[in-house]
Amino acid sequence: MNFHSVEQENIEYMNRFLVFLEQRQGVVKQASIEAWKSVQELAARSGGAVISALLPGPADTSRLEELMGGDGVVCHADDEAFRLYTPEGYVHLVMERMAGEGCSALFFADSALARDLAPRLSVRLRASLLSGRLSLSAAGEVAGCTRHVYAASAEATFVPARPISITLLSSGSRASSAIPGGTITIKPHALCGASVDGFSQLAHRIVMRRDARDVAEAGIVVAGGRGMGSEKGFALLDELAELLGGAVGASRAAVDAGWRPHASQIGQTGKSVAPALYIACGISGAIQHLAGIGSAGMVVAINTDMHAPVFDVADYGIVGDVGQVLPRLNDAVREFLKKK
Ligand SMILES: Cc1cc2nc3c(=O)[nH]c(=O)nc-3n(C[C@H](O)[C@H](O)[C@H](O)COP(=O)(O)OP(=O)(O)OC[C@H]3O[C@@H](n4cnc5c(N)ncnc54)[C@H](O)[C@@H]3O)c2cc1C
Repeated sequence: MNFHSVEQENIEYMNRFLVFLEQRQGVVKQASIEAWKSVQELAARSGGAVISALLPGPADTSRLEELMGGDGVVCHADDEAFRLYTPEGYVHLVMERMAGEGCSALFFADSALARDLAPRLSVRLRASLLSGRLSLSAAGEVAGCTRHVYAASAEATFVPARPISITLLSSGSRASSAIPGGTITIKPHALCGASVDGFSQLAHRIVMRRDARDVAEAGIVVAGGRGMGSEKGFALLDELAELLGGAVGASRAAVDAGWRPHASQIGQTGKSVAPALYIACGISGAIQHLAGIGSAGMVVAINTDMHAPVFDVADYGIVGDVGQVLPRLNDAVREFLKKK
């Protein structure tokens, strides 16, 4: 593939955006749907770019139109070779799509896969690589990508310096308004050029906890910190999350203590989350933890210390012991759900 021609072609087609849709076990990730919506909003503001999406691997596309909203084409590389992520195969596939569409901007929802794939693509495409949430100027134009720096004590905005850009959208990058329904066409992506044979293959994949919901994807997150006291103490949060249909997150102190897996850590060195409801239990609210919840909707905090910094960012605060508050909260939620 001639990468020079990709770049030259893009200078003429600056208004073509490609959104990468990530699937896990055939289900398109919610974070990718949110990324699509943000890009739809961005395109509407920046003069109506043409948007398409690339979905690698066999996946259920039956509800995509309803879930995604807006207008565009989803190119579905419904090939077994793409069921699991392989860097070479995915690089090849995205490069092919970028060239085929003449795209100038590629967007991912930030994820482990995106963090592995995007830098590889940026080298191959000689593209600017940005991450954070989309920021718009006062005039509504794209100003770049904004993210926290220096332990969330400052914000920095980055703008692409190259004609092609690749952006990893943090989970805080949600479209600010509802995306109207449109027409989403799903078409097969026919592989051309080099085959994907001969690339490396994933030999083993170990699922640590099959039932665990991803905090970065969840609409409700109940998180625990050192104040939960022990691994056993988190059973109350598992119960609450189950009742609410949410995910259980943790502070670094709880993860370092071995009470929860690192995948559930929220904050500067963990995940950024953007749930509609975030319940912080026995978490002090250190700046490095708050760095991960800046895009949460409503924040509720339960803490014995009425001066804990978490109360400064909470919409509702309960001063109390989690061992006493949570069982009553769980009972109240259970009762409420029974009556519904
Ligand atoms: C470079 C760097 C990166 C970091 N990244 C992260 C990160 O990604 N995520 C993160 O979380 N931290 C991160 N940290 C650590 C961070 O600074 C804090 O140490 C950590 O967030 C504290 O976790 P905690 O709130 O659970 O514990 P603590 O700060 O010890 O707070 C425990 C809280 O529980 C309350 N409590 C105690 N008992 C009870 C009870 N029975 N009921 C109710 N409340 C109770 C206490 O009043 C207290 O407020 C990072 C630090 C550094 C230096």
